[in-house]
Amino acid sequence: MKYISILIIAISQIAISQHTHSKTGRSISFPNIKGYLTLVCDLHTHSVFSDGSVWPNIRVTEAQKDGLDAIAVTEHIEYQSHKEDIPHLDRNRSYELANKYSGKSGLMVINGTEITKDMPPGHANAIFVKDVNKIINDDYMEAYKAARKQGAFVFWNHPHWIGQSKDASVNIADEVKELINKRLLHGVEVTNERTYSDQAIQAALDHDLTMIGTSDVHDLVDWDYNIPHGGHRPVTLVFSKKRDQKGLKRALFQGRTIVWYNNLMIGKNEWMAPLIDASLTLDSVGYYKNYELAIIKIRNHSDARFILKNKTEYDFYQHSDLVEIEPHTIKQLAIVSGKKLSSFDLEFEVLNAVIAPSTHPIKKFSIRDVDKIELKEVKF
Ligand code: ZN
Repeated sequence: MKYISILIIAISQIAISQHTHSKTGRSISFPNIKGYLTLVCDLHTHSVFSDGSVWPNIRVTEAQKDGLDAIAVTEHIEYQSHKEDIPHLDRNRSYELANKYSGKSGLMVINGTEITKDMPPGHANAIFVKDVNKIINDDYMEAYKAARKQGAFVFWNHPHWIGQSKDASVNIADEVKELINKRLLHGVEVTNERTYSDQAIQAALDHDLTMIGTSDVHDLVDWDYNIPHGGHRPVTLVFSKKRDQKGLKRALFQGRTIVWYNNLMIGKNEWMAPLIDASLTLDSVGYYKNYELAIIKIRNHSDARFILKNKTEYDFYQHSDLVEIEPHTIKQLAIVSGKKLSSFDLEFEVLNAVIAPSTHPIKKFSIRDVDKIELKEVKF
């Protein structure tokens, strides 16, 4: 997606949210959810072996700095801008170099490739492949079939990309429907680089595709995502039983993902709800002496800056109906209810999360017997 993105980079540098990194540094950090490990993955990257600007070892070092669990090496099959200097005769070479460099570091390096065709069906990444050379084919259908033969997980890349869809609409053409129906296409990018698509989210919901978000990095991830000033690369959080490629692949086929993009969490509510439950927990509750204000403390265990909109009848002593909770911090809420409460629910719309176009999930906290707990101090 590189060739026409130069102007977009210049504009979007201003728009990227500027917040300082939390105590976890630049390492992307989300809690595990009930029954699953949360693996942080970037499944779309390039190096000089296609149209990227760096040697594969740089992709590995960047991923280690970002605390990723896995990256996929996905060079274009049909587009090699450095061909004269780097012929890339064996199309697995980029992966092999990255994998060797990663060594026993713990970063999983996944062999993949970007099948780069005109729309439809456009671009797609086949990952967990054994031999990229065998996927080279002018006929897109044959390329997809070769990928399936190797057991690949295949996702549709940036279907909203203005390079192939001038108005950024997502067109589920008959060719794409056929790939989905034949189980040759399993996921879709709902974000790519610095772009987002509600229509791609709707396509994932309509066709039961796994939602993916990727950096599609070509240059340096620090520059592209303004990491020195608090930015982060887009990644896919994958909920896996085990921290290995087998577990990761299984999770992707089963659609267990949430996309983390520019302080936004995107995904199916089935996975959003447990991630929010693990990310926001009650730290303490209680009353202080004669104040008739229930004091609730919520701890944020994630990198997300939560933006919560109050959906209950209560007011807050220190906040409007919008409550922001910075990454890895605790937020105090003093509940203005007109009477002393015992057991009650707090309900918020989570504005920094999306489960369908223009639809935010609801997070509920059940507070029980708060009047029986006396706090030693309270600060406002
Ligand atoms: Zn790409």
